[in-house]
Amino acid sequence: MKEIILLKDGELALKGLNRSTFEDILIKNIRMRISSLGNFTYRKSQSTIVIEPENEDIDLDEAVSRICKVFGLVGVSRAAVCEKDIDKILETVWDYLGDELMLSKTFKVNAKRADKKFPLTSPEICDEVGGFILSKVRGIKVDVHNPEYTVTVEIRDNAAYIRGPQLKGAGGMPTGTGGRACILISGGIDSPVAAYMMAKRGVKLTAVHFASPPYTSELAEMKVHELLKKVSMYSGRINLFTVHFTALQEAIRDYCPEDMFTVTMRRVMMKIASALAEWQGCEAVITGESLGQVASQTIKAIRCTDECATLPVFRPCIGMDKNEIVEISRKIDTFDISIRPYEDCCTVFTPRHPKTRPTPEMARETEALIPNEDELIRKCIDEAQMMIIEAFR
Ligand code: ATP
Ligand code: MG
Repeated sequence: MKEIILLKDGELALKGLNRSTFEDILIKNIRMRISSLGNFTYRKSQSTIVIEPENEDIDLDEAVSRICKVFGLVGVSRAAVCEKDIDKILETVWDYLGDELMLSKTFKVNAKRADKKFPLTSPEICDEVGGFILSKVRGIKVDVHNPEYTVTVEIRDNAAYIRGPQLKGAGGMPTGTGGRACILISGGIDSPVAAYMMAKRGVKLTAVHFASPPYTSELAEMKVHELLKKVSMYSGRINLFTVHFTALQEAIRDYCPEDMFTVTMRRVMMKIASALAEWQGCEAVITGESLGQVASQTIKAIRCTDECATLPVFRPCIGMDKNEIVEISRKIDTFDISIRPYEDCCTVFTPRHPKTRPTPEMARETEALIPNEDELIRKCIDEAQMMIIEAFR
């Protein structure tokens, strides 16, 4: 039996934007995700994207699981293709969906007739298929309002498609339709979630990670690679810059008041990240900050950091509780990696009592105490290591 994958795109239809361009980007994103599994042909047809595997031994389960993580889709389903003949349709319904129908107590049939030349109307198709299922599965009942299982029969121009329930797509907008932004990625729980949330809005990702060897270990950097790999299952390829930040942190420790350490460090991080972001063509910076979570995430502290950004700063987790962020991190499978216990550069030299009410004036005065700040920043930018993170190659 020939199987295909059918995709329903989401917000695209509502946006009044150039639908076809959006769909082309969406198809390109899907292609990048599944081309390593084999050859597929792609067709846009009557508000659906149809993906056809070119040979039978392609792993469609894996293809569907990857496609379910592509932004811009609300529904993903597999369908059997058959001739537009009611007897063939009934036979296919049984071969393809019989096992699942046998396990269901209630069902309904949906029929869509795009090809108006087909001799049966949609209600007639529903009657035929419904009656057939009732005759085959003992005890099953029709429930049109709240069925356990829904069979859909679509009569298209070229063939009939038979499918069961559709899987939920990842939603959002296709990656690449919303520009590029730079995520400040730590090994923690919040920043991978923030990256995922912005990628969901169509943004391509560049990432910057600050490491402080020898205070932070190589394992902490590997952890960031693993986290981004998970995020890239949704966002596609991510360009990661790793910045070795030790000299600047030591200078801040040595020359600035201890209680201003964190604010000063975060300002400098923002300067470096902004420069790398602009150089990469990013139009915004993203962080995983959540208001009030720690001393550096009060409104006053954020104001001090924002001053050093040259691009808008998006903080998609700002209004979320930790447990809400954790819920998303479990969903995108980053949680178990995030909780591995490696030191982050932000926890190196952390003051015992950080200032929770710094002012921009205080922050500027403190920063001015760092000797050769510009030179140290320049060096961090120049020596940043770039690598490409991509889940499916
Ligand atoms: P996360 O769980 O994302 O680490 P957090 O709750 O631990 O966040 P902080 O350590 O204060 O909070 O970091 C706040 C934000 O600053 C992070 O979400 C991230 O965007 C950025 N950040 C923190 N550490 C780093 C780092 N080593 N490299 C790059 N960005 C970082
Ligand atoms: Mg952190």
